[in-house]
Amino acid sequence: MNDTEVVIAGAGIIGLSVAFELLEQGIPVRVLAPTDETGTATLTAAGMLAPVSEADVEHADLIPLALDSLARYPDFIRRVEAASGMTCGYRSEGTLWVALQRDHRAELEHLLAFMADRGMTAERLDARSLRKLEPALSPRVVAGCRIPGDHQVDPRALREALFTAIRLRGGQVDTATARGFHAAGEKLTGLWMQRPGQDEREWLPCERAVLATGAWLGKDFEGALPACGMRPVWGQVIRVRGAPVLEHVIRTPDVYLVPRADGRLIIGASSEERGFDASAHAGATYELLRHAIAAVPEIAELEFEAVSVGFRPATRDHLPVIGATATVGLHLCGGHFRNGVLLAPGTAAALARSLTAGRDTPELAPFSPRRFETVT
Ligand SMILES: Cc1cc2nc3c(=O)[nH]c(=O)nc-3n(C[C@H](O)[C@H](O)[C@H](O)COP(=O)(O)OP(=O)(O)OC[C@H]3O[C@@H](n4cnc5c(N)ncnc54)[C@H](O)[C@@H]3O)c2cc1C
Repeated sequence: MNDTEVVIAGAGIIGLSVAFELLEQGIPVRVLAPTDETGTATLTAAGMLAPVSEADVEHADLIPLALDSLARYPDFIRRVEAASGMTCGYRSEGTLWVALQRDHRAELEHLLAFMADRGMTAERLDARSLRKLEPALSPRVVAGCRIPGDHQVDPRALREALFTAIRLRGGQVDTATARGFHAAGEKLTGLWMQRPGQDEREWLPCERAVLATGAWLGKDFEGALPACGMRPVWGQVIRVRGAPVLEHVIRTPDVYLVPRADGRLIIGASSEERGFDASAHAGATYELLRHAIAAVPEIAELEFEAVSVGFRPATRDHLPVIGATATVGLHLCGGHFRNGVLLAPGTAAALARSLTAGRDTPELAPFSPRRFETVT
């Protein structure tokens, strides 16, 4: 069974990480990747690997997967870079969480207490120490902390490296969109797919498939899937560039700033419910720039490069869906919402273990697609 091909629909960070991990274990893969990449979350993501500063009290089930995934990152990057010959912009300088006013201080205390409860590390810093670490920070900074465990990667670079690694390892990448599946009895028999410029769907026989189609999971797709209610949550970031002004990722309660090694800086992020509307918005752009310049005034001097919009994939309960469905051989892998870049290596390793074992492993229990009992 383990030498039969696994078809993976979707070439965001989740689908490609799963494909790479399966190939590493000797399992052949075929990835279906549409040509239209509008709204692909991976292309917009800032790339913060932040289980600590993004830790979410309401979704405590996610923390073990997030910490496991972060721990896997150095080895994952080493393997992807070795297989592709490309670099992925992985950086481990840590994050500075910065308060610029009194309200922010209250949030800082809340964050520090939450982290202390969970044994997570943060080092409280005064304004002087913060500005010593990052001289470009505004003189208005009042307090903050350093979170050494929060790192970053360049999601676009990692995605390109994964594509190359998959091809060089013998994986097949087809330009096509998955349009549905068919099962005989309860067993998957194949997927319908559509190539660009063709009206007709093409039949692709397969016994194992993973749907990793981000916010589009179940959209324009034929076949009964668990009713996870996948929806797009609109997110906008701004890219500016120039001589590097920051070393660390900087976060305030209003904005985050993620410096890339090449002098680019990602300013993020807006979050709204707008369905599949991929347009950028003037108000959101203004707010992001206003907060960014308040934290680091020099940003006003940088060259404006682009605004980009992506759809965070969100399920009804805001937890991912990872694992088997009622149709034998058909797996879902998506709904990573705000943390898909962080969660990619852990998700890929866990799903690869399940596919190899032929059943979902216990660590995936909180994320089983089968928790959404009814089908759509
Ligand atoms: C503004 C913003 C900032 C973010 N910042 C961070 C961050 O700092 N850190 C972090 O960890 N996460 C971050 N995220 C979240 C992260 O980007 C997502 O969780 C992650 O990229 C989801 O990956 P994915 O592969 O599931 O989906 P996507 O990256 O959206 O990829 C899905 C792919 O599937 C393809 N597809 C769609 N339908 C089909 C079909 N029928 N057949 C085949 N393919 C199909 C799409 O074209 C797309 O390429 C951010 C997201 C946004 C929007």
